[in-house]
Amino acid sequence: MKRNMKLDSYDFDFFVIGAGSGGVRASRIAANLGARVAVAEERYYGGTCVNVGCVPKKLYSYAAHYKDDFEDSRGFGWESSDARFDWGVLKKNKDIEINRLRSAYHSLLEKSGVSIFESRARLVGPNEIQVGDKIFSARHILLAVGGWPYVPDFGGSEHAITSNEVFAMQSAPKSIAIWGGGYIAVEFASFFARLGVDTTLIYRGSKLLRGFDEDIRDIITEELAQGINLILENSIYEIINKNNRLELLLESGYRIEVEQIVAATGRRPLTQDLGLETTAVELDDKGAIKVDASFCTAEPSIYAVGDAINRVALTPVALMEGQWVAKCLFGKTADVVSYENIPTAVFCHPNVATCGYSEEQARSLGLAFDVYESRFRQLKHTLSGRQELSYIKLLVNLTDDRVIGAHFVAPDAGELMQGVAVAMNAGATKRIFDATLGIHPTLAEEFVTLREKRTS
Ligand code: NDP
Repeated sequence: MKRNMKLDSYDFDFFVIGAGSGGVRASRIAANLGARVAVAEERYYGGTCVNVGCVPKKLYSYAAHYKDDFEDSRGFGWESSDARFDWGVLKKNKDIEINRLRSAYHSLLEKSGVSIFESRARLVGPNEIQVGDKIFSARHILLAVGGWPYVPDFGGSEHAITSNEVFAMQSAPKSIAIWGGGYIAVEFASFFARLGVDTTLIYRGSKLLRGFDEDIRDIITEELAQGINLILENSIYEIINKNNRLELLLESGYRIEVEQIVAATGRRPLTQDLGLETTAVELDDKGAIKVDASFCTAEPSIYAVGDAINRVALTPVALMEGQWVAKCLFGKTADVVSYENIPTAVFCHPNVATCGYSEEQARSLGLAFDVYESRFRQLKHTLSGRQELSYIKLLVNLTDDRVIGAHFVAPDAGELMQGVAVAMNAGATKRIFDATLGIHPTLAEEFVTLREKRTS
């Protein structure tokens, strides 16, 4: 990778298109390393994560948890008969917080000395970017343009909204269908159901969260069926608008009527109309920008990171990639980019959190491993009366005793998995897990008290 710190005939050393997670991180690091940096953003600072993704979703998920908490509190002696939920209050307070975060991102860029263009930018050559009626030159360009919800095209598909629009809803619908079985579908179905909306989840597969460990998929499909109307192995054939109610005609011939439908059918890189044809940058068949191990595109002056390259569409991954590019271009050293042991959580109810290999991945790699697992009811629910079960599973490599997979279904599993990911990154063995004292009584102590190997 080329490094160039001297001022030269370019307007900027580094021009970043997109001020989402990856773009902001790369811009700030490059500017702090002395580069002359510009960033162009046409929509909102902070990108999907801050505006219509991780942050508002987590706030809605917190809101949803209160329903369980009110119910659970009764077994502990509390009475909360008049608790009522007001969607408008949640929406208003969420907007205030998102606006605050957006401004914070903007001012972080300003304070780092980054030139900010609140406008769409297009490439007009390997080193040129058009912003409005101006053309700027840059030695290096970073495409951090993110992704956008994808809705399959079929009769009436224009009536489906996406996760983006959910966060603009002024009031809650009485009934909603969520279409899909991935991260967004299960998270959104979980919070809608607890916020008092009659929720149906329609998924073409037989169990939710494809790509996750099969045991996790079994359990979460079972758990979500408590309170959500799950329609599996089915898909939507047509949506018919009937006086503001939507009739969904399913492939099985079954019909349901709802007030709103959310398509959570995946996301695609937002790479259209970027002027890529004026450069050698190439896209794959999903529209993702093709990059090499250094995040460099087929055009040597242009790099790309985050959802736009569609490797692992997670905020912390985009941050890691953006930081790596900036450090490589303008710093002396760069941290290692590793896609191993990426911890991730799905904020459905209960949470799913995972790090490392699923059992199926480990098997397909030909690894020899032991499985330790436990299905249990957490202490709190002995008094709350809630039937919810938790599940934990560790995969342990037979050759070196390292923990190569950790999977957890439990309240706050996302919080609990972070520390386990640190241990796994440090190469912790099962012996080290076993030698670590538990914190009693907690859910997390299950990680260090698993003794029985699965025998079949
Ligand atoms: P996912 O790829 O996770 O899920 C898409 C779902 O839509 C899958 O269940 C898929 O089915 C289904 N689907 C796709 N095409 C069709 C179709 N034509 N007809 C019917 N069903 C279809 O995407 P999401 O939109 O849920 O999320 C996008 C990404 O954003 C995630 O992959 C994740 O990387 C990130 N994200 C992360 C979160 C977190 O960290 N907590 C939260 C939300 C999003 P099938 O499984 O059969 O392919």
